[in-house]
This record gives sequence, structure tokens and C-alpha cells, in this order.
Amino acid sequence: MDKRDYYEVLGVSKSASDDEIKKAYRKLAKKYHPDVSTEPNAEAKFKEVQEAYDVLSDQTKRGQYDQFGHQAANGGFGGGGFGGAGFEGFDFGDIFSAFFGGGGQRTSRATNRPRKGSDIQRKMSITFEESIFGKTEKVKIPVYDECHVCHGLGAQSKKDIKVCSQCGGSGTVIMEQQTLFGRTQTRATCPTCHGSGKEIINKCPNCHGEGVEKITKEVEIRVPKGIETGQQIRLEGFGNKGSNGGPNGDLYIVFEVKPSDKYVREGDDIIVNLPITFAQAALGAEIKVDTVYGPVMLNIPSGTQSESKFRIKGKGAPNVRTKQLGDQHVIVTVVTPKNLSNQQKKIFEDLLKVEDKAEPQKNWWERFKSNFNRS
Ligand SMILES: [Zn+2]
Ligand SMILES: [Zn+2]
Repeated sequence: MDKRDYYEVLGVSKSASDDEIKKAYRKLAKKYHPDVSTEPNAEAKFKEVQEAYDVLSDQTKRGQYDQFGHQAANGGFGGGGFGGAGFEGFDFGDIFSAFFGGGGQRTSRATNRPRKGSDIQRKMSITFEESIFGKTEKVKIPVYDECHVCHGLGAQSKKDIKVCSQCGGSGTVIMEQQTLFGRTQTRATCPTCHGSGKEIINKCPNCHGEGVEKITKEVEIRVPKGIETGQQIRLEGFGNKGSNGGPNGDLYIVFEVKPSDKYVREGDDIIVNLPITFAQAALGAEIKVDTVYGPVMLNIPSGTQSESKFRIKGKGAPNVRTKQLGDQHVIVTVVTPKNLSNQQKKIFEDLLKVEDKAEPQKNWWERFKSNFNRS
């Protein structure tokens, strides 16, 4: 197959600047993009343009092409040359989105750019009381930070950093793959430099070239009042170190509230159970009830039934956003006494006689039913 000269394909002179090459390429890529083009042989033309640009936009490849022509392209480079086999099944979608704003930026092309460090997520277990009142606690978080020996350089000195020999500093290489649709060529992160475009001759002995090291950072965590299980806070910039000057990741603290044996939270309300005696239920009583804010006196009216609910205003949990306090709900349970003393037994027997007289017209079945309906 007779290959056209790459400069000819792009319609630029041999002395064209990088900018001119880029401009020419954009114009032609738009013109021949198979998704939009009405030109005959658009796909083949597009591949030709793409191939030419891939070589001419790369300083190293362009230099070799200028010296050796297509010969260089067909065998002179590592990884099977830079395009002698053609661009069958080229990833058009990717080019398309790069030019027409589809947003599909490839990670392999962004490896040289500033990148935000990764986020860290930590669980923090707190007591029920701590979830109500909040607290401040210092915790130790293992985090990747800038290496303190090389200050992120990864090398022993600046002289130890060279341009990557495999990718020529671009951080990406062209990979050929056999797929269902035939051979495809895509750009991938350079396996030698992992996208940095650099090679380090003498690596920093502390971080082994990574530029980061794992340290333990002490972070002060402020537990917000009213926080609930599963809710989290974000500490901006307390995550792992960013790369290429990018910002640090964030630290997320996810809370887990240990269950209390006294209190149950429902929304902003707190539910407690209060066992009371027959006598207290029948006669009414003033009973001390615990709240997270300390005990309060609760008035139980005479004739209170088991499972009755009482509300103590403003003794619930603070809403985590508004800090407004919910209520405490007290659920009363009338406890049937066990192991009666002789005196108690006598009293209940007397009570039973009085009850028999009070409802003499009812047989046992009626009594059973009315008792049943009461509770
Ligand atoms: Zn280092
Ligand atoms: Zn490389």
C-alpha cells in the first residue's frame, strides 16, 4: 500500500509548528469524523489523519519520521511501531468527545496533570451520650503525605530525573489490541513511567521514587451534636497527598453510635421504657425518669394503662443540622409482681374480694373479657 506523506495528509509544510499541525488536524478530524462526515471514504481518511497526527505531534516520532520516513514508522520504534498496521477499529468515540465536548477525557491523557489525592474514609464509634452532646477527639490517621526526604521529587536530586525513554515524556503509548471488531489501537498509560513522562535514575531511598510516604497524622475530630449512625463529616484536605501539585484528598469520618441500654433514638426523639407497679398505675404517682440531661419528675395519672405514652418536651436529641431538641417519650409498662410477700398476697386477696363485689353480675368469662379489653 502506498502511504501518503504525513505532512501531505495534514496539508502542512515540513517546517510547520506544533500549533499549525494541531490546527490542521482538528480541522480534518472534524471534517472526516465518521459520525458526522458525509465525505466518501470518511473513515479511511479519518484514520489516515489520525495516524499522521500521532506521529507529527510527537517530537521524537516526528524527528525519526523526518529522517527515515515511513520506514521508521514500520519498525523503528518499541512496541511494534507507531502505526504501520493502520488504525483499524480506532476508538472514534474518544476522539469525538475530545473535540465536540462529550466530556470523555481519558485518564491516560490526564496523568501529567495535577490530580487530587484520594479520599480516606474512617469509621468512628461513639457512645449514645457522645452522639447527643458531641465531643472533640484526636485520632491518628494513616495517610500518604509528601516524602520528607525528597519533598515529593522521588529522586535523590533534580539531576536524577530524565525524560522517559519509552514514551518520550508524553506519559502515553499506543497499544494494539485484538478485539471482536478487529485490531484496535488506543493510547494507554506508559508502562515505564506510569504516565509521569519521567524516569528517575537514582530514586529517593526513603520513598523509592513515589514521592510520597505513609505517615500517621493526628487529626482533631469534632463530633457534631446530634449525629446518628451512618452520618459522616468531611475534613477537606486531610486525605492523601495530591500529585503534580493537585490538592490533597479529603477525610471522611463515618459515625457509628453504640446502642444505649436505656435510650433509643427515633428521629430527634428519644424513647425510654418505664416500668411501674399496679399501685402506681392505679393510684397515680410522681416518678423520677432519667433523661440524657439528668432525671426529671414525671406525673403518672391514676388509672394509667400499660403501654401508655408520656412526652417530656425538649429532652430529646438535638437535630444535627438545626440543633433543635426533640422530645423524650416515656412508655409505661405495668409490671405484674412476682414472689409476693405475705402482706402483698393478703392485699391482693382483699382486692380480689372487693372486685368480685364491685362486679357481681359478671361471671368469670365477662370478667376475663373486660380485663382483656382494658389492656
Ligand atoms: Zn522521597
Ligand atoms: Zn513513559
